[in-house]
Amino acid sequence: MPELPEVESVRRTLATQLLGRRITAVRVLGPHAVSPSDFGRRAAGAAFVSSSRHGKYLALHLDSGDILMCHLRMTGRLLYLPPRGRMNWPKQHTHVIMRLDDGGRLLFHDSRKFGRLWLTQQADFPSGVDAIEVRPEDLHWPGRKAPIKSLLMDQRLIAGIGNIYADESLFRAGIDPRMPAGELTDQDRARLAEAIRTVLADAVVNGGTTFMDYRDGLGREGRFASLLNVYGRAGEPCRKCGAVLRTARLGGRSTVWCPCCQRYNQAQ
Ligand SMILES: [Zn+2]
Repeated sequence: MPELPEVESVRRTLATQLLGRRITAVRVLGPHAVSPSDFGRRAAGAAFVSSSRHGKYLALHLDSGDILMCHLRMTGRLLYLPPRGRMNWPKQHTHVIMRLDDGGRLLFHDSRKFGRLWLTQQADFPSGVDAIEVRPEDLHWPGRKAPIKSLLMDQRLIAGIGNIYADESLFRAGIDPRMPAGELTDQDRARLAEAIRTVLADAVVNGGTTFMDYRDGLGREGRFASLLNVYGRAGEPCRKCGAVLRTARLGGRSTVWCPCCQRYNQAQ
């Protein structure tokens, strides 16, 4: 599932192509993917003036006053196809085609059909602080017994972190993902906030992580998968200390960590 670095990569790659461009026509092939019901009529004629992102939500601001919002969910792709460019992916999963005044097209493609595009007057962003700007005090959850990893992935608290970057940030900070969130010390919070910002920034620089479906706004794969330290590496040796990486289900999600490098600060 795309997380903050992937959505930011989509935003950056699309911004270079879309800003200043006008939508000349809209074809909705998958009505389930868009809202409101007059999406096509409302979007046609508008030009892209700016872009923003919060957590995993992308917002493309139009000169009509509307904001074109996008959430990619599991397999969504928002793709710019240049003039005379050819689609090299399955057409049956393309749900929206917007023609642009440069002859290019903006496509919304989604094989699992959970992703959404919608028009709104005010950006529908989640309440959590954007993860790339997280500060130690944003991680202060006194008394909370839930595992730190579960709270990191709660979009109402911190917006933009999913399974991949939760595991990677906790490894970088040296904190066991099972540790109760309320037991983190000031030093833990400082280290974790810095780890989150660093991991996300590195992933953005590398265009995000592609395992299967994710592509940026120009259809390219991310390059961060080869730089992952723990996610997807259960049973393999830790890159730092050589210990075998452990895995368990945590909050319904598979979790990988190093039993040596990541500390469980039990209060006893
Ligand atoms: Zn280790």
